[in-house]
Amino acid sequence: MADPTQKTCPRCKASKPVSEFGKLKTRADGLSHYCKACSRAIFKAWYLRHREERLKKIAEWKAANPEKVREQQKKYHQKYYQRAKETA
Ligand SMILES: [Zn+2]
Repeated sequence: MADPTQKTCPRCKASKPVSEFGKLKTRADGLSHYCKACSRAIFKAWYLRHREERLKKIAEWKAANPEKVREQQKKYHQKYYQRAKETA
């Protein structure tokens, strides 16, 4: 049986203490597949890759749902002014 306090990250191939792995309830060992450093790198790469796509989707959604955008803006402003009033 492998050392339960150590886990090997399949991305950087390094054996690291389990504290270097994020927690993930959905996995059998309760730990993230990749170490924290790799998870961050993977997330960053994914984020950058999907950024353009997401912005395009948001722009498309806004163009298709102008009334919802207005509604959201209204809600946002109401919240903002409410907070400004409360903190004043
Ligand atoms: Zn790693």
